[in-house]
Amino acid sequence: MSEKQVSKKIVLHFPKSLINEPIVYRLIKDFNLKYNILKAQILPDQEGLMVMDLSGKEKDYKKGIDYLKKTGVSMQLLSKDIRRDEDSCTHCGACIVICPTEALRPDKKTGKVIFDSEKCIACELCIDPCPVRAMELHF
Ligand code: SF4
Ligand code: SF4
Repeated sequence: MSEKQVSKKIVLHFPKSLINEPIVYRLIKDFNLKYNILKAQILPDQEGLMVMDLSGKEKDYKKGIDYLKKTGVSMQLLSKDIRRDEDSCTHCGACIVICPTEALRPDKKTGKVIFDSEKCIACELCIDPCPVRAMELHF
């Protein structure tokens, strides 16, 4: 019987001291996992943030996650979902500067605010600042 495969979307936060360490390389090489980076960036305070799809055999996946925890990288499972209530959004633009991944960004053609759920990492930063509470958290 073949081993169970897992595939999960995870968010990794790298403290400044670990940004240049080959952590993802080792994660993939030593634990035989596959990944697809959905987003990677250095935040203004110099922390690194990476969102990826990580997949492989369940046993390898668990070992890989244990390794990540030991390195000091903080990890969060992307199990939450952010949606925008299109009827409520007034396209005021207040959320654009807050969003770290440009999931919320201006559409130069229409002057409206685009919400690109593929880029959203469910950080929840846009929820409180929205004056009409158009950004909603779903589990
Ligand atoms: S802050 Fe709220 S109302 Fe304004 S553009 Fe963003 S989601 Fe829409
Ligand atoms: S939760 Fe809001 S601020 Fe965070 S990435 Fe998604 S759209 Fe951007």
